[in-house]
Amino acid sequence: MKKSFFLSLATVLTLHCYAQTDAKQNQDFTKYKNSISTLDLKNHLTIVASDEMEGRETGSLGQKKAGKYLIEQYKKNGISSTKATKDFYQKVPAAFMNKEDNENLPDSENILAFIKGSEKPDEIVVVSAHYDHVGIKRGEIYNGADDDGSGTVALLEIAQAFQLAKKDGLGPKRSILFLHVTGEEHGLHGSRYYSENPVFPLKNTIADVNIDMIGRRDSNHKDSNNYIYLIGSDYLSTDLYNICEDANKKSVNLTIDYTFNDKNDPNRFYYRSDHYNFAKNGIPSVFLFNGVHADYHQKTDEVSKIEFDALCKRTQLAFSIAWDLANRANRPVVDKEDGR
Ligand SMILES: [Zn+2]
Repeated sequence: MKKSFFLSLATVLTLHCYAQTDAKQNQDFTKYKNSISTLDLKNHLTIVASDEMEGRETGSLGQKKAGKYLIEQYKKNGISSTKATKDFYQKVPAAFMNKEDNENLPDSENILAFIKGSEKPDEIVVVSAHYDHVGIKRGEIYNGADDDGSGTVALLEIAQAFQLAKKDGLGPKRSILFLHVTGEEHGLHGSRYYSENPVFPLKNTIADVNIDMIGRRDSNHKDSNNYIYLIGSDYLSTDLYNICEDANKKSVNLTIDYTFNDKNDPNRFYYRSDHYNFAKNGIPSVFLFNGVHADYHQKTDEVSKIEFDALCKRTQLAFSIAWDLANRANRPVVDKEDGR
């Protein structure tokens, strides 16, 4: 009698304690979201998309320099990598990238930063962006500020926000992997390599939030940058669709444009960025995207043209989606066959 009384009291206390943490976590969410700032994003992007990085061509010295900058930022924030990638690098061998369509790419690296979950550390939320771009052509440096400098610096800010929460004892319940992939411009090589050589089992990888180009606007939104294209959120999981919708309402209230989510859209963007290598493995994935513009894959994709207010809001949205995925009671259920 007594024992079970104490047991149930302990259970009640524990539940009470969890409920308190949950309430505090929700209350403080806004604080962490707001730690993502236009100023930080601008400071990071001014470096990542500077001439010094020489357009971040896959395997180039410029890309490696950009990679070092990313790692320095994680270290500064007290964020480490996974056990398997202690120095942050996952080597992506030249032979892997050149196998099908030989472009003579040299060895390159994915960069992995990791925040361990407090309650379900074995369940992983991936937040991804490619940090390669197209390098130097005819003596001109292609800085790729939007593609995908914007997503690259978004990851830094999202990681910092989660780490702030962790320092307050409100860290994510599931683990989060910040995955900076290489070789995207040459055929999604880095993410394909990761999906074939995952550091954590894909069956425990509950979702991918992929960010590729979120710092500009396209011609369909001439009058306002207060929008985002979401692609793929409902292809595998109704839960993920709802999570994205709710996270947006709770945070930045952008207009969500589903134009490119249409499976018959001729642009086929769903197949053209790194989330696809997760989605094809049955992992619910969402792609955040601002659409293409006149500077897409031109030397004029420069920091001076980035709309930092929009970049900030879209980064906050990605954070909000990841926050929900990491902290919600149940992982998103896969209730649909596939998106093809
Ligand atoms: Zn891109």
